[in-house]
Amino acid sequence: MSETSVGKIVKVAGPVVVAEQMTGARMYDVVRVGEENLIGEIVELHGDQASIQVYEDTGGIGPGEKVVNTGAPLSVELGPGLIESIYDGIQRPLDRLVEMQGQFILRGSDVPGLDREKRWHFTPTIENGAEVGPGDIIGEVQETSLMLQRILVPPRLRGTVQDLREGEFTVEEPIGVLVGPDGERTELKMMHKWPVRTPRPVRRRLAPDEILMTGQRVIDAFFPIAKGGTACVPGPFGTGKTVVQHQLAKWVNADVVVYIGCGERGNEMTDVLMEFPELIDPHSGEPLMRRVVLLANTSDMPVAAREASVYTGITMAEYFRDMGYSVALMADSTSRWAEAMREISTRLEEMPAEEGYPAYLGARIASFYERAGKVVCTGSPDRQGALSIIGAVSPPGGDLSDSVVQATLHVVKVFWSLQGRLAQQRHFPAIDWLTSYSFYKQYLPGCFEDKDRGEAMAEMTKQAMGLLEEEAQLIEIVRLVGAESIGARDRMVLETAKSIREDFLHQNAFHKVDTHTSMDKQFEILKAILYFHAQSLEAIEQGVDTKDLCTLPVRTDIARAKFVEEQELERIVAIRDTIDEQIKGLSVPA
Ligand code: ADP
Ligand code: MG
Repeated sequence: MSETSVGKIVKVAGPVVVAEQMTGARMYDVVRVGEENLIGEIVELHGDQASIQVYEDTGGIGPGEKVVNTGAPLSVELGPGLIESIYDGIQRPLDRLVEMQGQFILRGSDVPGLDREKRWHFTPTIENGAEVGPGDIIGEVQETSLMLQRILVPPRLRGTVQDLREGEFTVEEPIGVLVGPDGERTELKMMHKWPVRTPRPVRRRLAPDEILMTGQRVIDAFFPIAKGGTACVPGPFGTGKTVVQHQLAKWVNADVVVYIGCGERGNEMTDVLMEFPELIDPHSGEPLMRRVVLLANTSDMPVAAREASVYTGITMAEYFRDMGYSVALMADSTSRWAEAMREISTRLEEMPAEEGYPAYLGARIASFYERAGKVVCTGSPDRQGALSIIGAVSPPGGDLSDSVVQATLHVVKVFWSLQGRLAQQRHFPAIDWLTSYSFYKQYLPGCFEDKDRGEAMAEMTKQAMGLLEEEAQLIEIVRLVGAESIGARDRMVLETAKSIREDFLHQNAFHKVDTHTSMDKQFEILKAILYFHAQSLEAIEQGVDTKDLCTLPVRTDIARAKFVEEQELERIVAIRDTIDEQIKGLSVPA
């Protein structure tokens, strides 16, 4: 650690403070600014002059006041107590701050990220005398009913375990001792710190080859994201970015969810803070928060805290990944993060690049998404973890040529393109099936236990997408030369494509049943739609009128299939028999 030095403020520019006489300071050292001890971080150094981004409102701070260097980088506290917490961008617990200080966060307040008083029941999982190294699991804490937190040897430590014992401990009390190779003794605690801007180490990276199921049909069936994968949801205002992110937070089959909210509208973050604690985890019936960490940036919080929140969140997510869990991180919206970067960069008087963003925007965005992945964790026992990132982007006017969108699309493997046109038609999720993509589509069959069923699903989604593409071309032809110009088969293609859009892709997030669809149910709905299509085409060959087919009552059964409860899947399967019966009943003109 560098020597702590005391400098002096020479300039204050919004969230940025310039200080001199900062001898010994290093980039990214955390400093305390002014008489009020505001928390800041060095983001630029010239000799002993440091530019500092301050995580709190700098109003009232002026030249001449002191700046104290802590000599440590911006770090988060990792250990029991993270789950169910609601933090600001630098891991200050919002709920406890509110309790202690009323509605307003006092500046310079030093509330630790992890509760110091709370005792956790620690159970060792290894014997005393064991040789351990970084990342090895030494014990467990049942943190919530949904989270068994594994306690790891902190990175960089190695030695023989002694005095490891079961009991009730706070995060700071020793649970044992690590005797290093030279006999030096280090107390083992349940908590350790990690600098947020440094990715946590992994043993090996693996290809993300397993689908992260979301229960959202357009996503799972057409544009799936993998465990350890990356996805981007850009879209104009009001097209459903936040609803998609919330749906994923609720329904993904991940062990842990880290949700970073950078409120767009004033009340949006309040919605999250009010709504999330009420949500029930559909997989377990327990409160959802028991596997969630929430980071909230309201619009009245300083920009620097917003800039940091993305790093704070991803470091927490990596920590749970290192336990061998599948973690999903959502950031809504990363545009607010980029804007924070831009504002700080302007204050630093850096040379702006496109749209005023700093030249390093793309590099920062890339290095954030690169922290996703499926990995072999460090330490023993052998285990795999995954960290998936889903970032919303809100470009001005929904313009996809926006710098943040472009930089994001360079790195992510899934693109869910939200269209204002679809949102206006109330087609939700407003994910455009023609322009969106996923590089993980090949892993879709793996979602099914039965391999043949998986292959069949992949085949069906391919066919359905083909029909949707054909629809786009046919609509164009009809527009140019009129509906009479297309034949009976093409009319059927238009009917089926409409059915795929309305009966499969369209999904109401707020409907009790429709909000989530299992893979099996997705399979059966799609199968019913495509079965109707195939049987209809055959009937058309026999001379049956398309209109008669399309007005069959079974069409209503197909349209309602998405509202059938999961335990009644047989009812969707039975639709195929009804299709046979009703088509058979149609008279063929002589
Ligand atoms: P954004 O974050 O892109 O500005 P929101 O996520 O707030 O947009 O969505 C705007 C509105 O669109 C929501 O309040 C809701 O009424 C509607 N909406 C979006 N997605 C869905 C969905 N899947 N089901 C039903 N309504 C939706
Ligand atoms: Mg939003």
